[in-house]
Amino acid sequence: MEYGNLYIVATPIGNLEDITYRAIRILQEVDIISAEDTRHTLKLLNHYNISKHLVSYHRHNEEIKSEELINYLKQGKNIAIVSDAGTPGICDPGHIIIKKCIEQDIKIIPVPGACAFVNALICSGLDTDTFLFLGFLPLNKKNRKYKLEQIQNSTQTVILYEAPHKLQVTLKDLKDVIKDRKVVIARELTKIHEEFISGNIDEIIEKAKNLKGEIIILIEKEAQKTKEEKQKEFENFSLEEHYSYYEKQGFNKKEIIKKIAKDRNVTKNDIYKHFIK
Ligand code: SAM
Repeated sequence: MEYGNLYIVATPIGNLEDITYRAIRILQEVDIISAEDTRHTLKLLNHYNISKHLVSYHRHNEEIKSEELINYLKQGKNIAIVSDAGTPGICDPGHIIIKKCIEQDIKIIPVPGACAFVNALICSGLDTDTFLFLGFLPLNKKNRKYKLEQIQNSTQTVILYEAPHKLQVTLKDLKDVIKDRKVVIARELTKIHEEFISGNIDEIIEKAKNLKGEIIILIEKEAQKTKEEKQKEFENFSLEEHYSYYEKQGFNKKEIIKKIAKDRNVTKNDIYKHFIK
C-alpha cells in the first residue's frame, strides 16, 4: 500500500484571513488533522466550514502521538499538521514526527504561510540579510547565559520570542549585553493592537511596562569591529579568557589557537607555548 503524505500547514498568527487557498484545500482534503490544541484549531476549521477527524499532538505527547500518526500514514491516510499559530515546528511541535517520517520514507509536504518572526523582521527596519533566530530564551541559568553571550557577539539581527509576563526580566538581562544597540518590539501582529515599538534598551524597558499580548523582541546586530578595535579589546583579555571566548562560540582547539594568534598579532607557537606551560 502506498503511504499517505504528511502536510505541514501554516495557519494564521491572529488574523484568520492570513491562510492560503492551498492550505484550506489541503485541510479539506486530508483524512486527519493533527492539531496542537484541538479546541483552538476547531475555531479556524469552523470559520472555513471544514469538518475533520482531529488528533491532538502537542509538546507533551509528541513522541507517542507521532507513532500513532505514522501508523495512519502507513495505512495510506493523508495527515495535515497544524499548530496554534503560524508555522508548525517553529517553536511549536512538529519536529519529532517530521524526523521520524524522513527516516521511514514518508513524504513531507510544506504548505507555507504565516510565521510570526518573519513578519516582525521585515517590518522592524533592522538588517534582514542575515539574522539569528533564537526562539524563547532558556530559563536554565547556564543555558540562558550562553544565549545572552551569543546575542552580545552577534553580528546578525537577533530575534527572540517572549511571553509578556517574562518581558521585563528578559529586557533587563539584555540590557547587560547589548549596550546601545537598537531594539524593536513587535506586538500582536495581524491583530487589532498590532504595534512596533523601537528605541534603545532603556527606552524599551520603559515603554514595554505592562505590555500584553504576543511579543517578539528584535535586536540590532553588533557592529563589525575593525581589526585594530578587536585587537585593543582582546588585549584586555587574559589568554584564558580569550580562549573561552571562542570556545563558547563552538570553535575547536586548533581553530581557537589560530584565531587568538591572529587577534593578538603573534604566532600560533607563542599561544601553544603558553597553554603547554
Ligand atoms: N509557530 C509560530 C510561528 O510560526 O511564529 C510561533 C509559536 S510560539 C509557541 C508563540 C510565540 O510566537 C509567541 O510567544 C510570540 O513570541 C510569537 N507570536 C506568535 N504570534 C504572534 C503575533 N501575532 N504577534 C507577535 N508575536 C507572535
